Amino acid sequence: MNSSRRQFLARSAVAGAAVVAGGTLAASSPTAALATVGTTRITALTGVTVIDVATGHRAKHQTVLISGDRIIAVGRHLPVPRGATELDLTGKFVIPGLADMHVHSLGDEHVSPPLYLANGLTTVREMAAPDPVVYDWRDRIDAGTLLGPRMVVAGQIIDGDPTLWDPNLLHVLVVNDEAGARAAVRQVKAEGADFVKVYSRLGPTAYRAILDEARRNGLTVHGHGPDQVSIQQVSNGGQRSIEHIHALALSVSSREAEVRRMQRAITIKTGDYNGWFRQVHPIEWIAANSFSRSRAADVFGLLRRNRTRVTPTLTMHNVLDRPDYTGLDPATAKYLSPDSIGTYQYVLENLYSANRPPEEVARQQQMWEYRQRFVRELFAHDVPILAGTDTGTPWMVPGFALHQELELLVGAGVTPRQALHAATIEPARFLGMSDDLGSVAPRKIADLVVLDADPLTDIRNTRKIHTVVTRGRVISPEARRRMLAGVEAAVQAPPAGPALAAGGCCGGH
Ligand SMILES: [Zn+2]
Repeated sequence: MNSSRRQFLARSAVAGAAVVAGGTLAASSPTAALATVGTTRITALTGVTVIDVATGHRAKHQTVLISGDRIIAVGRHLPVPRGATELDLTGKFVIPGLADMHVHSLGDEHVSPPLYLANGLTTVREMAAPDPVVYDWRDRIDAGTLLGPRMVVAGQIIDGDPTLWDPNLLHVLVVNDEAGARAAVRQVKAEGADFVKVYSRLGPTAYRAILDEARRNGLTVHGHGPDQVSIQQVSNGGQRSIEHIHALALSVSSREAEVRRMQRAITIKTGDYNGWFRQVHPIEWIAANSFSRSRAADVFGLLRRNRTRVTPTLTMHNVLDRPDYTGLDPATAKYLSPDSIGTYQYVLENLYSANRPPEEVARQQQMWEYRQRFVRELFAHDVPILAGTDTGTPWMVPGFALHQELELLVGAGVTPRQALHAATIEPARFLGMSDDLGSVAPRKIADLVVLDADPLTDIRNTRKIHTVVTRGRVISPEARRRMLAGVEAAVQAPPAGPALAAGGCCGGH
């Protein structure tokens, strides 16, 4: 077990202790399981249908007993212990808490954490926030002093030189040799990172040094497949997740050698993300039109065997491929600050749409079809998939965006159960927390979402949230309404100080 994992578990244990409610369990507990729980108060969810995301099985008429931060029993018509708080949820459906495995949180603790929880997200992987305040959130959430999802947090992005990021938009660590790469890893570790986030413009020498230094420091490496490094090298080198479809698409082309040569030849100036997109899109177009089934079987088989996760981030690609698509739903736009909306507009106009010639506009419309096919192929080859949105890029509203991602995954042709798997069981495995997360079962952490309708019948039903349970804490429908109203008020309030103003900056990616 690496040290970040130990730290992660240690933090989780502290959090568990912090959220245990006081109270005394009735002495006459009717099941053996209850005899061991000591003096903590029990909550009983009764009359629910529990969904097993691994199998798609629906268990009806279930009682879920929760004590402290744990589920202690699940069973049909289980008796409710005396003194327990019973929540009659007859007719509702219970799924494990959801995870968005690719977010860049907006820097206001009154916005992102409550939006995640209100949407049933009990875990998020922070892929490099514009504001380091997220480390503080992570620790306070674990200590039970801030209400929010479990957060696994990347350090500052490590990119090559020149980087894609304009330093006025997002500060990243730029490295161009082995010594710089190793120093950057040690820096993000010292700053409190749970893992290292790598980026597209890293050269092969720096990239290899990052993987090695991360290993020495007990950190895992997640992020983009660099332009100069093949997917096979990324996967065999031990990078644990690959974000987005860009780099992957090239590896499954019958013209792989040619498109990889083109990718290696890309040059940009510092901060010219738009210039990078302008060069990548024609290469991707060639790759998409030369998709090779045998290459896909080889590459996807390698990813499957190495357990290299892929986070397709369809929600991001949907907007990037079709910037004329205005995905901002008026029902959720009210949860974004005017500052965030302004940033999204800036990113859309300057990074995404600028300098895009008409033929590229037409091609990217078709690329969207390819992304969907690509996702179907990933699932068909049993590549482990993480549901992630790239929240922090246009037009995503934290928390709500994950439900869009689930819908897009199903729209691409996977089943609702497979989409839910990518947001529950696979994140739990990826984080080394399968014993604690990913199913509604005794001894697991009580991270649950109670839905008004069956998500296996229609994935859009994940939006019909009745109650959320996070580490045993119940967020009732009324509490959830208050949380959302609080966010709505917070985004309209003027920024409280320089820290918040800085936090409003930047789409991530
Ligand atoms: Zn991102």
